[in-house]
Amino acid sequence: MDNPPLIIYKPKGTKILVFAPHQDDEILGCGGILRKHILSGDKVYVIYMTDGRKGCPSHIETKDISAVRKNEAMASCEKIGIDEMEFAPFRDGGLRLTKEARTYVMKQIIKINPDIIYTPHPNEPHPDHKECTNIVVDAVDLTGITTNIYFYEVWNFLKPTHLVNITDVIKDKIEALREYSSQLFNHDYETMIKSLNSYRMQQIYNKKLLFKKIKAEQKERKKINMDIKLPWQYAEAIQYKSMRCTSEEQI
Ligand SMILES: [Zn+2]
Repeated sequence: MDNPPLIIYKPKGTKILVFAPHQDDEILGCGGILRKHILSGDKVYVIYMTDGRKGCPSHIETKDISAVRKNEAMASCEKIGIDEMEFAPFRDGGLRLTKEARTYVMKQIIKINPDIIYTPHPNEPHPDHKECTNIVVDAVDLTGITTNIYFYEVWNFLKPTHLVNITDVIKDKIEALREYSSQLFNHDYETMIKSLNSYRMQQIYNKKLLFKKIKAEQKERKKINMDIKLPWQYAEAIQYKSMRCTSEEQI
């Protein structure tokens, strides 16, 4: 039988680099974890890999959408507490593992020298998501740096190696998501992502030990007349990719 996912507060590391194929993937996929990094004093950098030109609702001119999404990304990052971001020059819908893309990513990785890299799961159905991760994994391999890669999920389930309780920061995640109003115009991402994060939480609840912990906490809350409803409601799932990394036990 496969090992069950580890339940962790957040992955260990102080320099965090996130690759987002489009402006919003970082929040949908790992916005809660990023907020926890920020609250812990970790430094978070985000690189948006495409110009976002394809995600254009009818009320916005096609020529304006890239600038609109860039502004939304900056506002969203501000909400989460991220002040370092880069906008790569690649076309939305056309991200490919080219020499240019690989060199761009290698330069960023060498410059930032991150402890952790977050990137979409390679089984994501969107071609830009897959290619983003192909480029990142290839670039990490070529730079020879030691780092830890975690995949995040947006459009497809991954097989989690780790689950992170994000109940205490779900409000921040949703507020940051709401900054992407152009993307929310045609899609109810708020319901979608809360449902996914709620589903992931159920995988934590299934663990006997944790259930005991929650019960004990409820009892304590009852004593001091606090809200006793279950305190854990949302989680994000990530999958660790083993490369030239520190061992998983250290996470
Ligand atoms: Zn995307």
